[in-house]
Amino acid sequence: MSEVVAERGISTAPAPIASPSELLPYAIFAGFVLFVLIYFVGAEEGVASLVSGTSVHEFLHDGRHLLGFPCH
Ligand SMILES: [Zn+2]
Repeated sequence: MSEVVAERGISTAPAPIASPSELLPYAIFAGFVLFVLIYFVGAEEGVASLVSGTSVHEFLHDGRHLLGFPCH
């Protein structure tokens, strides 16, 4: 099979991996999303709360304890 492909001149090389400069915008966006997620899991309560009430706190309560953030 590979000889047939080679005779026809079709390259079977794997796709090139993106360079670090091409990946930088995606890394920045992923870091921002993770930062927002960590904020809501770990600091969304009390004075630092962006959403009034305890709905976000209660929704993420188990995740807060799983990650070791102080809670109660
Ligand atoms: Zn708790």
